[in-house]
Amino acid sequence: MQVSQLASSFGGSIFSEMTALARSHGAINLGQGFPDFDPPIDLQHAACAAICNGHNQYAISHGERILRDAITSHAARWYGQQVDPDTNVCVTCGASEALWCALAAIANPGDEVIIIEPSFDVYIPDVRMVGAIPRSVVLRPPTFRLDESELRSAITSRTRAIIVNTPHNPTGRVFDRDELGAIAAICCEHDIIAISDEVYEHIVFEPSSHVRLATLEGMAERTVTISSAAKTFAVTGWKCGWALGPEPLITAIRRVHQFTTFASATPFQYAVAVGLQLPDAYFDDLRTQYAKRRSLLLDALARTPLTVYPPEGAYYIVADIASLTPQMSGLQRCRWLTQAVGVTAIPLEAFYLDPKMGRTLVRFAFCKREETLQAAAERLVTLGSNDA
Ligand code: PMP
Repeated sequence: MQVSQLASSFGGSIFSEMTALARSHGAINLGQGFPDFDPPIDLQHAACAAICNGHNQYAISHGERILRDAITSHAARWYGQQVDPDTNVCVTCGASEALWCALAAIANPGDEVIIIEPSFDVYIPDVRMVGAIPRSVVLRPPTFRLDESELRSAITSRTRAIIVNTPHNPTGRVFDRDELGAIAAICCEHDIIAISDEVYEHIVFEPSSHVRLATLEGMAERTVTISSAAKTFAVTGWKCGWALGPEPLITAIRRVHQFTTFASATPFQYAVAVGLQLPDAYFDDLRTQYAKRRSLLLDALARTPLTVYPPEGAYYIVADIASLTPQMSGLQRCRWLTQAVGVTAIPLEAFYLDPKMGRTLVRFAFCKREETLQAAAERLVTLGSNDA
């Protein structure tokens, strides 16, 4: 059967592949980034209550009022950002749909979109699906800092947008004010729109802190901020996300969204509204718990020959595994890790336009219960030590 050139240009998702591999080998899955613990009890009850109280039909296409109000209050509470629930918000099926709608609303075929690599694996296919051309700027170990001159040299007269992701999946970088300031200056100089994916906004480790790109000078009118309930409330299966931005861009995003999914699941919108209004203590505890999980996995990895790049935010650790697995591709390295050690990671080559770039790097997710991480640690330390 003939399928489109677009569809046949896509391979399978590396996340599904590695999850299946982990299952078939009984390995501990630190590959795909989904928590193995439950969301806060208040959210579970709110979702059940919404179902029992009749919130089961199509939501308002751009989001139920209660959630749009919660999203705008959350933006004011955490970032002092003034946004109007009537004109500046569109609720979507996860951040993934928001990203797609933003690109379809902003880019024309032939436009160029800057991607900062390694990058979350949907960005490049999304850019291609709207007929635009991805141009990459690469973050390099050990610091994974954004180099302003590299970014400047990637800009052309056809550059329409840049996708920024902070805290960053997979490297765990939290871009600081200098890096974000450079992005803002370039966007303003060249009239470029920023699509800022901030789904890990509440998972940041001291002394780093999350800066919302849209709050930098000149950026409110040219930034679409994207976030989601998935990571903040451990509800990756609810697929409840949103886009925030200036009225003309949000109007366009709402138009694309109404013909993409029309609306996201209604009961979850009510539950996520409850989550966004949880007291500061919830968000403080989220960071504390993630800091503990991060230390547990970092301590284990420090006892192996892997070179580790400690994250400033998000819930992943990138490590270089070349010394243990010379001559292998990234995928082979992760297969080896699954089979020989019983721990599954994701090969970073899946996060680059040119897979050679991430060949020796793997990503471990630590959004797992302490006992899961402990069990993974026990297996990882069998890799031997750095001092051997
Ligand atoms: N952006 C980034 C950077 C992510 O890591 C993820 C999930 N892994 C998403 C977006 C997707 O979020 P959602 O599940 O809300 O679609």
